[in-house]
Amino acid sequence: MEKGNVIILDGGMGHELKRRGISDDGTFVAGALANEKYSTSDIVENIHMDYLAAGCDVITTNSFVAVSIFKTSTSSIDALNMLLNCITLRNEKSQVPRRMIECGLATTDADSKQRASQLIIAAVARARAAIAKHNENFPEDKRKKLVAGCVPPLTECYFSCKVPLSVDCLIPEYRVILSTLLECNVDILLAETLSTTREAHAILRSLHYIHQTGKNCIPPLWMSFTVHDDQPSKLRSDEPLDLVCQSILHEATVLNLPLKAVGVNCSTPSAISQAVPILSKLVEGSDIKVCAYGNCFKTTTSEWIKTLNDNACTAVLRTDVEICAKDYDEEVLTSDAYSNFACEWARLGVSIIGGCCGSRPRHMSSVATALKDFG
Ligand SMILES: [Zn+2]
Repeated sequence: MEKGNVIILDGGMGHELKRRGISDDGTFVAGALANEKYSTSDIVENIHMDYLAAGCDVITTNSFVAVSIFKTSTSSIDALNMLLNCITLRNEKSQVPRRMIECGLATTDADSKQRASQLIIAAVARARAAIAKHNENFPEDKRKKLVAGCVPPLTECYFSCKVPLSVDCLIPEYRVILSTLLECNVDILLAETLSTTREAHAILRSLHYIHQTGKNCIPPLWMSFTVHDDQPSKLRSDEPLDLVCQSILHEATVLNLPLKAVGVNCSTPSAISQAVPILSKLVEGSDIKVCAYGNCFKTTTSEWIKTLNDNACTAVLRTDVEICAKDYDEEVLTSDAYSNFACEWARLGVSIIGGCCGSRPRHMSSVATALKDFG
């Protein structure tokens, strides 16, 4: 591959906010922007700017938490809500994702959509402001900086069994998120940490609806899935990654939507190394890119899920991924170790590389430097 043709996506936000003193009490810190308590703080903007200074080309809106009340009538959801301490508004068969509650964002059904939209608009504004300041501070940096609008899972992350079987149930909420991001003119739509094909199809159908009924032009869409750390050829729903991606690529073609990248994120770097060849093979010969961004925490998501409940609806943990102690610093993968993974992904055909949970600007700085010299 040619030098410097990898697009560098930014790294994580939550861990970095925590490092900078925003809430260390176990709350979901990525909600800092959304929480009024921090709305006058420039900390989110500063983190975006640090990622830009580290060499990132794309920064992602800090709106992962901005999801409106999610309606469902699936009975199994109540049991898992209790497990995960979600609030269930039983009469209305609605649920508020735990991350909204932890950020102090739980709201009534009536204004939840407006609330989610406001949070997204604020997050896009912060990202745009960071790019403007970066361009002012570093006029010599000629690489174009872009804003990716985050399109998150609607229910609890990783638990595909919480996602209703009917894709139609997901569409109203995704339409709120996507319409708002489109009105804010984001440069890229980044659907991330998806654990089932249903979420992906709901996003495609929502976009199709918006495209047909509105005047919005649809920017490039990137879709990224979270895979089992110990079985990376499968999503956390156990669906095979290759079949899921084949199916969404087909649907995007049928619906004439600009799906420009498929990828894996929010899994261990070693799991991602095993998953990306599957995607590279799938998109070979097309103009579809592969994206990859991994978690840097020592504890894997599969291990964390295991601690919640042995009977949770996810795969049984297998600790067959070797962890080398010297690669970790304060329970987080070192920048050098992470950039080695990034180079491996680039060799495997990945052309969009970032960082997920636990990654920091220093990780992305190492990645940007390593990939600049990569050839
Ligand atoms: Zn992650």
